[in-house]
Formats: sequence, structure tokens, C-alpha cells
Amino acid sequence: MTKSMNMKNLDSQNLESKNPHLANLDSKNLNPKNPHNVESCSSNCDCVSNTEDDFVKFTEEMKETHTILVPTMLPIHFRFMVNILKSYGYKAELLQNHGTELAQEGLRNVHNDTCYPALLVIGQLIDALKSGKYDLSKTALLITQTGGGCRASNYIYLLRKALKKSGFGDIPVVSLNFSGFEEGQAFRVTMPMLKKLVNAVIIGDVLMCLLNQSKPYEINAGESDELVSKWIERITDESQSKALVDFGALKKDVRAILNDFGKILRNNEPKIKVGIVGEIYVKYSPVGNNNLEEFLLSEGCEVVVPGFMDFCLYCMNDVMLENRLYGGSFAKKIIYKFIYNMFVGKQKTIYKMIKKHGIFTAPTSFEHTKKLIKGYVEEGMNMGEGWLLTAEMLELINSGVNNIVCTQPFGCLPNHIVGRGMMKVIKEKNPQSNIVSIDYDPGATKVNQENRIKLMLANAKM
Ligand code: SF4
Repeated sequence: MTKSMNMKNLDSQNLESKNPHLANLDSKNLNPKNPHNVESCSSNCDCVSNTEDDFVKFTEEMKETHTILVPTMLPIHFRFMVNILKSYGYKAELLQNHGTELAQEGLRNVHNDTCYPALLVIGQLIDALKSGKYDLSKTALLITQTGGGCRASNYIYLLRKALKKSGFGDIPVVSLNFSGFEEGQAFRVTMPMLKKLVNAVIIGDVLMCLLNQSKPYEINAGESDELVSKWIERITDESQSKALVDFGALKKDVRAILNDFGKILRNNEPKIKVGIVGEIYVKYSPVGNNNLEEFLLSEGCEVVVPGFMDFCLYCMNDVMLENRLYGGSFAKKIIYKFIYNMFVGKQKTIYKMIKKHGIFTAPTSFEHTKKLIKGYVEEGMNMGEGWLLTAEMLELINSGVNNIVCTQPFGCLPNHIVGRGMMKVIKEKNPQSNIVSIDYDPGATKVNQENRIKLMLANAKM
């Protein structure tokens, strides 16, 4: 998967340089809402799939009747998202199916060259459809569509092609995107919904950060997870919290969350801190990384995972950078700058609150993380997770977390450049760092991945 960018205003030359599938397109025929040009891609290419006219649309009536199945990615944040969708009248369900069968299902329906995150997401959705749990005449699927130059923008077309191939061609697919794709569908992200989703990212990051710092030390097992569930339900219940619509209320709830987590009884046994960075899906999704966090916990570690807001800010930063480099409308520049500054400010406020509370370690702000890439990579490295991946490794080392697992889908070129490709120079400049790069794909075994991580842990220092 890759970052979100608004493709609408990118010129075709820029698009072509970012996506090899677009390289031979006649720029006049390029449809920015659907980067697939069926004529120009080879018949073996998995991106050749469908056009806007031949897919089943999600209609107004379906809002009442259809359950939208949501694939797993960020365990906390996506629970917020599903509850927010429900508050807007959608019936939504976060999928819980997992296991090796998902990759096999993916392999049966998409080319094995396809990015592992796409393969898993498609495998998880089709596996759910085959489970018999759902009335297929009243089921829809949701997939995120980022709009970046990487293949993640095209997962929706792969999914539709896979659905046809496996006999589920009548199932509507909706896209969660902030770039205006898939117009004409009754499912859409409105501004009020977007505001709630972004505020949920801030709270989701706080909960993820506190959970990671509490779970390894809790005396009463399960207490931290219970608090996470309690706060997701409370915050997404409008009668109990206004945190998703009002920043003052959000700060009040964050204070209460900090107090709640501060009351958890903890043992003082020292733990090895291990950071997780990488491609966004395999970094966060237990389905994608074979329950990496659970494994590290079982090895007696404290997991440190950078927040999702950093990724959102990275996406906005990229739009601003492209605007600066290639030009664009002045209005767009001002709007993005305003939104970017607003969320950088909110992030800093919340991190200051965590610091002031005194029990937990606050993550460093995005602005600080961004500065760390100087002398390593340029901001223009923006395919996949781009410079952010390098920056997150540096930020972890900078804050004393020297042991790092860099998770990457096998064959994910952009992230191998900014992830594994940067490890040598990072280690040279930071000899205390202890980084291992782990590839994830259907052929990689969990045992092998865990053994490699155990080797890294054998050299780990507190
Ligand atoms: S190449 Fe990597 S970053 Fe790009 S879509 Fe595939 S997995 Fe995601």
C-alpha cells in the first residue's frame, strides 16, 4: 500500500513517472479517476481489469440493506472507522478472519506477482464471502484507495477482477478514499465524516501508544485491551463524547484516557524495546505480519510502533511538495498548508499532554521526525512509504529504541529502497542500532521470520 495523494490535479507527465503502467499512455486519453487503460496494459498484467462502467455500484438503497465488510489493517483505528461508518447509517463489519488460508485465497484469485498487501486484503474479503456467514445479496466490500503512484491505488480494480473470477461479480465494492475517486457511488466520505475519521486517528494513536507501553507490564492480564475497547466505544458514542467533533472535548478525553491507563497495576520488570516500521499494511496488520506484536510480547519485549497520523501528515506533505516542485493551484497550496499545520499542531498538543502526564513516553512530532532524514534521503523519495520509513527508523534510534524490525512485502521495490536499502548507512552512522529486515509474502514461513527476529533479539540491548 502507499500513501494518499490527490491525483486530480497531477499532470499526466507526473503520473507517468510514478507508475510504469502509465508510461505508454497517450496523456490526452488518461483518465485520472481510473488510471487503467485497458488497451495499453499487457493481457498478463493484473491491473487490467475493469472500467468505471462495468462494476456494480453501491446504491442509496443498499445503505439500508447491505453490510459493508471491512478488511483488517490497523486493529484500533479501523474499529473507530467502522463505528464512525455506523454512525452515518452504514452497516459495517470489521473482518476477523485470519490465517494462512487468506494468502492462499488471494493466490487463487490474483497473480502471484501482486503486492502481498493486495493479495491478503483480497484473500480476506473473498474468504469472508465464502464463509457462509453473510447473505451475499446484501453484502458489499470496502477497500481503501490511496491515489499514490504505487500499485495500492489499483487494488480496487484487482479486487473487482478477482470477484468476477471467483463468482462474486455482483458484490458491490466501495472505496474509502479522500481523492474524489469512484464518484457516482452512494458511499462517500463527506467533510464531517472526514473530520471524525481524522480525529479518530489522533485518538487511535494515543490508545495504540498507551496500549504498547502498558500491556507488557500489566499485572492483571487483559486490562489494557479492555481499556482500549472501553474508549473506542465511548468516543464513538455521541451521547458520551464529542471528541470526534471538538478538539477541546478530545483533549479532555485524552486526559481521562491517560489517567485510566496510569491506574493499571504494573510490574517494573525491564523489557527490551523493539520498534516496528515498514510498509503500512504489514507494519500494522496482524494478518500481514503474522501477529508480529504478539510474538514480540511473548519474547518479553515492549513494542514501539510509530503513529498513523505521521503517515497521514507524510501524505499531505507530499502533496505540498509536488505542488512546490511541479506547480499547482494556489488555492490547493493554501488549503493543504492550513490542514497540515492544523494537524501538526494538534499532534504536538497531544504529545505534550502525554509528556506532562509523566507516566508514558510521548512519541516525537512529525516535524521532528521529518528533520531527521537530512543526510540520508530526500523528501522527493515519496513512492510507497518513502522517506518516512527511513525517518521512522531514525526517530526510533533517536529516542533510544535501537532494536528495529523493518517489515516489507517481498518484492515491494519502493520500500526496499527506503527500508532495507537504508539500513547500511543508518547502521554506519548509528552503530548502536540493531535492525533486521523481514520480508512477508505467501512463501515466507512464520517460523523463519520469527527465527530471524530471535537472532536480532539475541543482540538486543535494553
Ligand atoms: S509496491 Fe509496495 S508500496 Fe507499492 S503498492 Fe505494492 S506493497 Fe504497497
